[in-house]
Amino acid sequence: MGGKSFFVDLSLCTACRGCQVACKQWKRLPAEKTRNRGSHQNPADLSSKTIRLVRFTEERDKKGALNWHFFPEQCRHCIEPPCKYVCNLYAPGAVVQDAETGAVVMTDRAILRTAVRRVNLTSSQLCPYNVPRMDEETGLWSKCDMCLDRIQAGMLPACVQSCPTGTMNFGDRDDMLALAKKRLAEVQKKHPQAYLADPESVRVIYLCTAEPENYHESLLASAHQTSSLLASAKGEKALRATHPPKLSRRDIMRGRFGGDTKKA
Ligand code: SF4
Ligand code: SF4
Repeated sequence: MGGKSFFVDLSLCTACRGCQVACKQWKRLPAEKTRNRGSHQNPADLSSKTIRLVRFTEERDKKGALNWHFFPEQCRHCIEPPCKYVCNLYAPGAVVQDAETGAVVMTDRAILRTAVRRVNLTSSQLCPYNVPRMDEETGLWSKCDMCLDRIQAGMLPACVQSCPTGTMNFGDRDDMLALAKKRLAEVQKKHPQAYLADPESVRVIYLCTAEPENYHESLLASAHQTSSLLASAKGEKALRATHPPKLSRRDIMRGRFGGDTKKA
């Protein structure tokens, strides 16, 4: 398969949020106005301005002891990305996959709702991990792009470069998978329940020591979820090929249809 991958060892994360800040800094994403919600997690959720977010969750175990779980969340760069199939149905070229690294990149064509295409999709309808977010002002969808510009310049992704604890690792996929398995065996000596999250289907491989729901509901994607997103995108594509939607008079006058903008 080849390409690149991240290995994210959650057993080492201290939630310092260096990666979240480094991501914002490199991508020149603005700060967001937030309020205290009784949690150190800030902001409350991913957004078009915060494409990497360190989630904080508190959990009480069976003995009543408090455990704190940290989950630096980002796009998983799926091997077969549902977002690519769904977005490109509405706006061809909206999502591309870099052949060398496998990075899944949303382009400036990722505007799915326009005056002509009145599609209102949620993130969960694009992605089994509920990751991409739409800028409400511009309509542009966005997410992590693996810092492809940095990688092509021989640098590490900003989040990996900034991580002081060894949680974030990045490199050739085979090396990252080997590192993930080695660390899993080590961590399981203390936490026998430790596991890797969806290692075969994503390029961001998390090593987890707690139940998935103790990190976040979107830690794992079920195979069913992923295959239904892919199947519905492929089914819609086939349907469009055999039964193209009717053009409105306005669309015909404008010479526009199905996501491509052509000159009349
Ligand atoms: S995690 Fe979601 S946004 Fe990222 S590549 Fe997979 S489907 Fe696309
Ligand atoms: S920089 Fe590393 S240790 Fe700090 S929050 Fe991010 S992943 Fe965790």
